[in-house]
Amino acid sequence: MKKEERLRGFYDEQLETLPRDAKKQFLENLLQRTVMTAFQEAPAMREKFQAAGVGPADIRSLEDLQSLRITPKAQMRQLQQAAPPFGGFLGVELDKLRRIYSSPGAILDPEGHQDDYWRLQGVFFNTGFRPGDRVLNTFSYHLTPGGLMCDEGLSGIGCTVVPGGVGNTDTQVQLMAELQLTGYVGVPSFLQAIIERAEQDGKDFRRDFSLEIAVTAGEMLTHVSRSRLEEEYGILVRQFLATADVGAIAYECGEKNGMHFADYRVIEVVDPETGKQLGAGQVGEVVVTLLENPVYPLIRFGTGDLSYYEDEPCPCGRTAPRLMKLVGRVDQVTKVRGMFIHPSQVEEVVATFPEIQAAQAVVEREQDRDKLTFCAVLEQDSSQEELLSSLQERIRTVLKLRADVAFVQASDLREPEKRILDLRKWD
Ligand SMILES: [Zn+2]
Repeated sequence: MKKEERLRGFYDEQLETLPRDAKKQFLENLLQRTVMTAFQEAPAMREKFQAAGVGPADIRSLEDLQSLRITPKAQMRQLQQAAPPFGGFLGVELDKLRRIYSSPGAILDPEGHQDDYWRLQGVFFNTGFRPGDRVLNTFSYHLTPGGLMCDEGLSGIGCTVVPGGVGNTDTQVQLMAELQLTGYVGVPSFLQAIIERAEQDGKDFRRDFSLEIAVTAGEMLTHVSRSRLEEEYGILVRQFLATADVGAIAYECGEKNGMHFADYRVIEVVDPETGKQLGAGQVGEVVVTLLENPVYPLIRFGTGDLSYYEDEPCPCGRTAPRLMKLVGRVDQVTKVRGMFIHPSQVEEVVATFPEIQAAQAVVEREQDRDKLTFCAVLEQDSSQEELLSSLQERIRTVLKLRADVAFVQASDLREPEKRILDLRKWD
């Protein structure tokens, strides 16, 4: 199939291209139904309303959600143990479930009988799979929902699935060649491993295999690895974001510029300290509310992932905002001048400059203001003058903050294992 055909079209054109205001109205209508179900059927959710002193009728708009506290993924295990098995979050009796999973952290995840329960059909169509694709699905089919979740999303849009699961590289290479598989779903590093193994066996991946599309999740897809797969091997590579708790969260369209919010969810990016919604470009926690899911009417589930979104119109025509990238986990953030920064953002700055050997962002308090200094240790023979302005610009782009730059010796770094050193004292 031609690449252009994979990049064209919509899974649900009317919904995906709904003008902003109409989309908001659509989500709010579904939200009102969800809060009613949650309040009536899920004791843990009812308690959340009571703690906020509001009733379901008070949550009418997306903004109204801010009055309800966030349920962090990190607390889910504890909450489930306190009220087994699902912590009071289930909206139906146990015997109405199709499957029960146990994902890392020993968190139980329910699955209902409804068609496209995880909302991955739209994700897979919009990332480029088409009916007739033969797809190797390498997510785990044991205990965690990843494998079956993807399996059903793919078969639901007419693809044929080979349930490869995790590991068994030799068998997977063999299947990919023998069945002339056209698609791959899994982590990017395992696809690399498959290609390497095939090449070690003396095969020419472009000639002997028919892989046209790979859709990845669960691991950072770097620019380097994506462009290698796309340019050297001619594979269309897209990614999506999903979790074992909520299923689909976001996906890349043909434009490859961020991941559109998935449908039938309210996605918020919030200040992890206050739970308040943040605007475009601001880094915060990704929080999900499931709509049209009476089995698991989760409201404001905190994924623990940090990201930011853009809502400029996307050339693909979809109106949903886009999560630009995951910048790290919420338990490692530091707030500087009202913006959250994460160790991975410091690493991202460093990764752009081969001249930088090590770096640390130091946060101090000076005259009641936060002061951010980016301390960089250079390789020998590197010119500080040449680097300074491009480094400052890169820091502004990645951290979205201005910082002083200090070129230092490795021995000057305090606690050099830390990417962010917070020296502020609050007393
Ligand atoms: Zn798009």
